[in-house]
Amino acid sequence: MPRLRIQVRGVVQGVGFRPAVYRLALARGLSGTVWNHAEGVTIEVQGGAEGLSDFERALRDEIPPPARVRSLASESVAEIPGESGFRIRASGAGSEIRPVVPPDLAVCGACAAEMDTPGERRHRYPFTNCTRCGPRYTIIESLPYDRPRTAMKAFPLCPDCGREYRDPMDRRFHAQPVACPACGPRLTLRRPGASAMAEGEAALQAASTALRAGEILALKGLGGYQLLVDATSAEAVRRLRDRKRREEKPFAVMFPDLARLLQACEAGEEETAWLTAPEAPILLLRRSGAGPVVEAVAPGNPRLGAFLPYTPLHRLLLAAVDRPLVCTSGNLGDEPMAFEDDEALRRLGGLADLFLTHDRPILRPVDDSVLRVDGDGPTLLRRARGFAPLAVPLAMKGPCVLAFGAHQKNTIALLKGGELIMSQHLGDLTSPEGADLLARTVADLRAFFGARPELLACDLHPDYASTRLAERLAAEWDTPLVRVQHHHAHGAACAAEHGLKGPVTALTWDGTGLGSDGTLWGGEALRIEGPAFVRVGHLRPFPLPGGEAAAREPRRSACGLLWATRGASAPPPGLAGAFDGPDWELLQTMLAKDLHSPVTSSIGRLFDAVAALAGLPARRGFEGQAAMALEFAAGDRAEPPYPWDLKEGAADPAPLVEAVLSDLAAGRDATFVAARFHAALADLALAWARLGGLADVVLSGGCFQNARLTGLVQERLARAGFRVHRHRHFPPNDGCISLGQAVVAAFR
Ligand SMILES: [Zn+2]
Ligand SMILES: [Zn+2]
Repeated sequence: MPRLRIQVRGVVQGVGFRPAVYRLALARGLSGTVWNHAEGVTIEVQGGAEGLSDFERALRDEIPPPARVRSLASESVAEIPGESGFRIRASGAGSEIRPVVPPDLAVCGACAAEMDTPGERRHRYPFTNCTRCGPRYTIIESLPYDRPRTAMKAFPLCPDCGREYRDPMDRRFHAQPVACPACGPRLTLRRPGASAMAEGEAALQAASTALRAGEILALKGLGGYQLLVDATSAEAVRRLRDRKRREEKPFAVMFPDLARLLQACEAGEEETAWLTAPEAPILLLRRSGAGPVVEAVAPGNPRLGAFLPYTPLHRLLLAAVDRPLVCTSGNLGDEPMAFEDDEALRRLGGLADLFLTHDRPILRPVDDSVLRVDGDGPTLLRRARGFAPLAVPLAMKGPCVLAFGAHQKNTIALLKGGELIMSQHLGDLTSPEGADLLARTVADLRAFFGARPELLACDLHPDYASTRLAERLAAEWDTPLVRVQHHHAHGAACAAEHGLKGPVTALTWDGTGLGSDGTLWGGEALRIEGPAFVRVGHLRPFPLPGGEAAAREPRRSACGLLWATRGASAPPPGLAGAFDGPDWELLQTMLAKDLHSPVTSSIGRLFDAVAALAGLPARRGFEGQAAMALEFAAGDRAEPPYPWDLKEGAADPAPLVEAVLSDLAAGRDATFVAARFHAALADLALAWARLGGLADVVLSGGCFQNARLTGLVQERLARAGFRVHRHRHFPPNDGCISLGQAVVAAFR
């Protein structure tokens, strides 16, 4: 009788893979065994030739998600005479198991149905899960993935759960986080500084009543604490903004169900599929203008970050409140999200009126992911829950590299055995808490994946918290450190994501990053080939009075740009309103004396400057706000481009600035200026792609979060015969820097 040994790679642990294999074998009357090991899963099956070939087909076609079979390799082996039955061999703790770890997944249909059925033992149980859904990366201490090494170790299984856990035919077979009301985690409601006021269902109901009354709830979610408030109450939203010190940055909204989400937002087929997918990211959707969500949730923004309840707890709470809720990370300002109970009470005590918590520990913080679907596919803008720590094959061999990323929207990355593992989004590293989270994540990722980095990689910028940590660890571990220029990393990340091996032209447009000449870059065309790059195009630099402060004060960029193109002058009429009395003179003096006014070639800052000239809010805001306002102002309007003065790759914006000012003087509005400016950038992209002289062009950097700009550039270059590649699975913003650093370091 023939016997096959089949090697399977992919996401094959903690996702019901072995039970699925067991059922496929049983259904075809095959005997054999299945087990886990370092490389994935091995199956041996024995039986009739027809049954075996159908089994192989079914392995490809019938394995239910979230398992993902990436490759199958079969070989014939010697028959085991007299074998009967099919066995799942247990994984031993001592064996060297490095499976692909599944990410945390949204509640599945079967679990949701159970929760909704009166009489089921998990009716209304907020921690229901199975092999197809529930917490994973947020609760796993170490590998191999077994309950004693998870946050569930403190919850001994009751007899009923134990039976399900051991039954290969049950969808909870070896579901490590399995729990029920008899044996699993429980809810508690408390006010900051007080003891518990309610538990279980009563806690849920009281939390819902408080939310309906406009109170701010800190909810212990899947990957950390979140702050929730009624999205239909302008006053409640205002109070959250005041307490969180977040004036205008948009909040995401969680809707009780898809029908209500679709009232407030427009979603196409692909967007709806993402909303209801196991990854369940926040989707940036166009607002329809209807529905009860108040404007203050995302002021002046035609888009809304919208998502659906993804844990049983969120489902129950949203159904009880019965209205959309603002659902934002539990943090103050730019600090990272709180995820440990004591820390959350301490840091969020002044922000939240109430805490709805539970006793299942969160072992690492994982924020919500953010995704946008444009005309031709998805772009992940924040890669966290549902995606981290899924490994991505990069098809490059080389040393094990640990890359430390940038300073904002930080992620770290591990390149190991030809695969890239990127951490969840860690965010801003400015606060001590942010720097601490980075250090913890480096230690965690290294231990979790059993990595011994042979090379470390970081940014050129000496003051990034990520650079400082990389320097310290390089000395401590006696490991070489490769410093990778910020925009080189951007371009390399996009090229790696698309498996491009040859040289590429990279248009890297963002806020600012330290260039190899010591100035701030951010509007470049780089010709990248492996470990090396040449700067073939750049914006002619202009000064930023006040340096970093310009990122949140677009009027500074406008003042610096005018200084560079016109010299000392009075503020033009559209801009004058953004300055009080001596402010303008003060900046002019700084520029004249060259005080704290570094020069930059940043297109992000050029966006800010043009937005400020066009009379859009320019005094203060969050980084990227002015650029977003300009994108929204442009809409789909097509107008003739502004001119550039292009000299050997240095793009002088002086003619553009003059044309903007004369349009404004002629009474043209911001939408007209915005449309012409976007068209001008598409012209610039084409000119630089031609200078690069290569067929493949990659787009990276925060500016390419702008859907209008990206669409125009893509269309323009494609029409001229270039192959244009943009980020899909990794963010175009600094979230992709660790990937690029790892790749460049590996080339060296
Ligand atoms: Zn489930
Ligand atoms: Zn139980």
